[in-house]
Amino acid sequence: MPLYDFRCEKCQHAFEANVSLKDKEAGVKPSCPNCESKEVSQIFRPLGFIRRQSSGGGGCSSGFG
Ligand SMILES: [Zn+2]
Repeated sequence: MPLYDFRCEKCQHAFEANVSLKDKEAGVKPSCPNCESKEVSQIFRPLGFIRRQSSGGGGCSSGFG
């Protein structure tokens, strides 16, 4: 059975679940293993690697005087 990536919309928990083609056509979605919510959305992985962008820096200035 194929594994699909899902993410819970409630707790943002990402998990994998195997969904058969029949269930997929019927629109059956797995429930979140964390909070058992049905509000999950499938994550489609694009080709290539997803890299996170982190913005560094930031001002931390304190004025004396
Ligand atoms: Zn959840």
